[in-house]
Amino acid sequence: MNPDSRKIRLIMHLRSGGVHDTRVLAAIERIPREVFAPESMRDQAYENATIPIGCHQTMSAPLVVGTMTQALQVDERTKVLEVGTGSGYQAAVLSRLCRRVYTIERYRELLEIAEQRFAELAFTNITAKVGDGTLGWREQAPFERIIVTAAATDVPPVLAEQLSIGGVMVVPVDDGAGEPRLLKVVRTEQGLDIDDMGEIRFVPLIADTGPE
Ligand code: SAH
Repeated sequence: MNPDSRKIRLIMHLRSGGVHDTRVLAAIERIPREVFAPESMRDQAYENATIPIGCHQTMSAPLVVGTMTQALQVDERTKVLEVGTGSGYQAAVLSRLCRRVYTIERYRELLEIAEQRFAELAFTNITAKVGDGTLGWREQAPFERIIVTAAATDVPPVLAEQLSIGGVMVVPVDDGAGEPRLLKVVRTEQGLDIDDMGEIRFVPLIADTGPE
């Protein structure tokens, strides 16, 4: 199958999986996912599958990226924080839809490769750093949107504090009781409104002072 037909097949798959936002679909169609995959995995870039990226981590499957991006409801004025840069693919998709993306990764090795890709593609509205994303990015807070791309055990409290009023956070939560759930959290004047968006699988979010 040629690359264009693979891409079309993937977009159809995303649509049937519930991703209908045309801006999100267009961003996914335009961004070369193969650029974010290791050389040896590039021919699988348009399958709806996770791809190993080293450091025991994976880039999320396109349907997960589409679902989370759609749930985040961003526009060209939005400032977003991403926790878990990984390959950089999710940040790249967001960067086409928002004003600015701040992204944090705990592995320096992964972050450096992701930054090279942002530079190659001239995606200049992404600011990335190495660190523990559960602590958020205090200097840049508050954020209108926060996306966590690794499974937390609960809604990370510091991240909720760094969300602006009316802001939205999308976070996979695995409390160990069953399947991990994708939660959509809206910060209101009174507290947090939490909506369960269904089951989802993710590598764990690890709060610490640095990679082992
Ligand atoms: N958004 C990524 C998905 C990568 S998988 C992509 O599009 O490729 C999740 C990433 O979260 C991994 O790279 C992992 O190292 C990172 N991660 C886990 N816990 C973290 C933490 N506390 N702070 C920052 N990054 C973290």
